[in-house]
Amino acid sequence: KQFLQHKYQILEKIGSGSFGSVRKVLDLSTNTYLVRKEIKFSHMSIKERQQLINECKILSSLKHPNIVEFVTFDYKDGVVYIYMEYCDGGDLSHLIRDFREKYKKKMPEYLIWRILVQISLALWRCHYGLDYPHLNLIFDKVKKPESNNHDAIVIHRDIKPGNIFLTNIKDGYPFNEVMAKLGDFGLAKSLKSKNQFATTYVGTPYYMSPELLKDKPYSPLSDVWSLGCCIYEMCSLRPPFKGAKNFTDLENRIVAAVYEPVSDFYSKSLRNIIDRCITVDLRDRYSVMDILNDIQAKIMAKSLQ
Ligand code: ADP
Ligand code: MG
Repeated sequence: KQFLQHKYQILEKIGSGSFGSVRKVLDLSTNTYLVRKEIKFSHMSIKERQQLINECKILSSLKHPNIVEFVTFDYKDGVVYIYMEYCDGGDLSHLIRDFREKYKKKMPEYLIWRILVQISLALWRCHYGLDYPHLNLIFDKVKKPESNNHDAIVIHRDIKPGNIFLTNIKDGYPFNEVMAKLGDFGLAKSLKSKNQFATTYVGTPYYMSPELLKDKPYSPLSDVWSLGCCIYEMCSLRPPFKGAKNFTDLENRIVAAVYEPVSDFYSKSLRNIIDRCITVDLRDRYSVMDILNDIQAKIMAKSLQ
C-alpha cells in the first residue's frame, strides 16, 4: 500500500474559531493551499467531543460545489486539525463590510442573486439530501424529491455571513464571477441523529430564527430564516435586527419579525424572497424549494421576454 505522506507548511492565521485558530496551510505533496481549523478537545465535555465528531462526519459526507470541501483531519496532543478547501475570498461578512466602509456603495443586485442562488443550492443539498436536479434551471417547477436520502438530511443551524465563504473573486469589485460556499458546520445537525447537543450560542444571535430563540423544535426552515437575514444584510449592509437596544428588545423584534424594509433600489422579487424567508409563521415561510422555484420563474419570464 502506498500512503501519501502529507506534509503541511503552516502559514498565517486567517481567523479565530470558537476552539482555536484557523490557519492557511500549504499541502506540500499537492502544492495546494488548504485551511486548517484547530480544535482543542482536551478540555471538552463528552457532548462537545460528540459535536466535533459530528461536524467531521457531516462535512465529509457533503460534497457540493457550494459547500466548503472537507479534505481530511488528524489529531495530536489534544487538538483535532480539520483540513478543508481554502476560500481565498474570505467570508461574506468581510464583503458586506467592504461595501459599507470601503466602496461606500450598495451591493449590486446581480451579486446578491448570485450568492442567493449558490447558497440555496447548497441548502437544497443539505435539506433534501440530494443535489438540486435542475442546475441548468430549466422551465419546469421543481418538486421536493420524494425518495430523499434521510440519512443525509442536515440542518446547518448557524447560517450567517461569517459562515458563507467566497472564492473566485478575481480582481475584486464588481465580483462578476464570485463563488459562494457554505461552511462551518460546527452546529449542524443531521435529522436522523438522536443525541441533542448543547446549543448554547455565543455571540449576538442576529441571525437566529424565532423558533431557535424560543427553544422550540427547529426544522430546515430555521436555516431559511437565517439565509433571509443574510440576503437582507447584503441589501441593507446591516442585519435586519441590528437596531435593538438590548437583548430583550432584540428577542422581541425577532419573534415579531420587526425590521426596516429593504430599499426599493432592489427589485420587488428580491424583496419578496427576503420577506418570505424572514417570516415567523412556519406555514408561510419559504422553503429552499420555494426560493429556487421563484428564481426559476424569474429566469423563465426573462427568457420569454
Ligand atoms: P467558528 O466555528 O469558530 O465560527 P469558522 O469555521 O467559521 O470557525 O472559521 C472562523 C473564521 O476563519 C472565518 O470567519 C473565516 O474568516 C476563516 N475561515 C474559516 N474557514 C475558511 C476557509 N475554508 N477559507 C477561508 N477562510 C476561512
Ligand atoms: Mg463560524
